[in-house]
Amino acid sequence: MLDAVALRARLNAVRERIAAAASRAGRDPSSVRLVAVSKTFPTDYIRIAYDEGQRDFGENKVQEALTKIAALEDLAINWHLLGHLQSNKAKKAAAGFSAVHSVDDAGLLKKLDASAREVGRKLDVFIQVDLAGEATKFGAPRESVQPMLEAAATCDAAHVVGLMLLPPAVEDPQSARPYFAALRVLRDELVASGAPAGMLSQLSMGMSHDFEVAIEEGATVVRIGTAIFGYR
Ligand SMILES: *Cc1c(COP(=O)(O)O)cnc(C)c1O
Repeated sequence: MLDAVALRARLNAVRERIAAAASRAGRDPSSVRLVAVSKTFPTDYIRIAYDEGQRDFGENKVQEALTKIAALEDLAINWHLLGHLQSNKAKKAAAGFSAVHSVDDAGLLKKLDASAREVGRKLDVFIQVDLAGEATKFGAPRESVQPMLEAAATCDAAHVVGLMLLPPAVEDPQSARPYFAALRVLRDELVASGAPAGMLSQLSMGMSHDFEVAIEEGATVVRIGTAIFGYR
C-alpha cells in the first residue's frame, strides 16, 4: 500500500545523499539533477513526489508513459524517456517527453528531430554510449558518438545535450566507477578534439545503487527509481 510519508522521506533522503556526494566531490549540489524513475509505479506516487517539489520523472516504455502523461496533464512535469526507443514510436515520444536518454544512432536522432519539429516541441537528447561492448545492451559504440554529433549539428528541434551510460549490472558500486570515469573521459576527449561543448555538457549516469559514485565521477543527471519509490 502507498505510504506517502515514507515516500516523501525516501525522496528527501536521496536528495540529501546527492547533495552530500556533490559536496564531497567539491561540486555544487545544484549541478546534479535528479530524475525520479517512476516506471511501473502508479500516478499517485508521482503526485506525492511532485507535491514534494520533484519535477523530473523517468519512464522506460513509451506507451506506459503516455498513459501517465495524459493522467497528469495538470502537472508541470518534465518527462524523460530512459528505455530503448523504436523509431516507429519517435513521433509519440517527441509529443510526450522533454528528454530522451537512449538515442544510440544517427537515424533515430534525425527521426526524433523531424518528429519534434512536426509536433512543435523541443527535445533534449542524450547519446547512450555502450562502453562495455555488451552485445545484448543498447547504446552506441564509442566510435559512433562523433558522427552522431555531426548529425546533431543539422538538427533544430532535437538538441543533443550530453551522454548517457547504463553500465553493466554489478553488485559493488565501486565496480561501476571505471565506466563512469570512462564516460567523462570520452566527453573530455570529444570536446578537446573540437566537438561542440554545448552538446556534451550533461552526463546522465548513476542509479539507486551507484549514484554517489557517479556523482563523484561527474554525473550531472542521476536516474533513481528504487531508492525513492521502492522495489518494482
Ligand atoms: C529503471 C532504470 C533506472 C532506475 O533504476 P533504479 O535502480 O530503480 O534506481 C535508471 N536508468 C534506467 C535506464 C532504467 O531503466
